[in-house]
Amino acid sequence: MGSPISAILANLTIEHIEQKALTTFHTPPRLWLRYVDDTYVVIDKNMVHVYHAHLNTISPTIAFTMENKKHDTIAFLDVSVTRQPDQTLTTNIYKKPTNTDRYLNYTSHHPRHQKLTVAKTLYNRAKTHIRDMAIRKHECKNIARVLGNNGFPRNLHHMTRNTTTSQNRQFKSFTCLPYVQGVSERLKRILNDAGVKVAMTPLKTIGQLLPKPKDATIPQHRTGVVYQVPCRDCNMVYIGQTKRNLNSRLKEHKVAVRNMDVNKSALCEHVLECDHRFNWNDAQILKQEPNWSKRLVFESCLINSNSNVLNRNDGKSLSPVFHDILRSTSPSNIGH
Ligand SMILES: [Zn+2]
Repeated sequence: MGSPISAILANLTIEHIEQKALTTFHTPPRLWLRYVDDTYVVIDKNMVHVYHAHLNTISPTIAFTMENKKHDTIAFLDVSVTRQPDQTLTTNIYKKPTNTDRYLNYTSHHPRHQKLTVAKTLYNRAKTHIRDMAIRKHECKNIARVLGNNGFPRNLHHMTRNTTTSQNRQFKSFTCLPYVQGVSERLKRILNDAGVKVAMTPLKTIGQLLPKPKDATIPQHRTGVVYQVPCRDCNMVYIGQTKRNLNSRLKEHKVAVRNMDVNKSALCEHVLECDHRFNWNDAQILKQEPNWSKRLVFESCLINSNSNVLNRNDGKSLSPVFHDILRSTSPSNIGH
């Protein structure tokens, strides 16, 4: 699981099993609804266990489990269906026992429309899932309470109840901006007027803030890096980039220097001209960037912001307009 095609494959597999099971059973269910691996079945009471056993004979590796109605109620996805004494069916919202009613808090640093979407989605779900007006009214009251608990102002969630989300505006292009309260909204308006659709992404997610569960890779083994090798005998440095790890690239530099292969490493020129040696042990990673194009820009920025580089060229040729800015920028500020 985890691959983008997992859901498609799971669906195809279950579709195949379901078709086989339905066509080979003598008294098929009166109703068979399925969403991926969740099914809702109406079948003769005496046939429940026979059909369940039949389903489990189709594929030896896939076992179906079964849940019977409790107090005339059964859940299917996020709907709970109840049989009333007069044999009619009513629907309500189903919530798992682990549900905490915690949603995006209104004080969170998120665009306002994303917060409104939370409220709209909840009210919209009550509208589409619950037909009985008394039950729906009760659920709407419940939503208002839950939204209040999540910091939503009272007038706001009343306002969102009857609005629709449809937006038929046509845009020429699309861009994604990091969200900064007070700035992104204005930028969005300007870009929208220019025909650019804008989506906002959080600057930092909780996942980025929490420590990583895996041990960090030791620097020399990180791949896709911009690195610096200092000269042992003067204050010059060489800045380079590689898609592989620093150790592998340093090995190549060392071999080139040993063989005085000027074509393979710019470091040889410095050794030949000044008879200096390099301090390989103090080589360090300045930036890790897996994207080749971005890495070249970082390399170029770092070369241009450092006045003691012995590189033959400045990497990817940056427009001269950036040179003055980079010269007045400390290399340590690049990449942040
Ligand atoms: Zn030197």
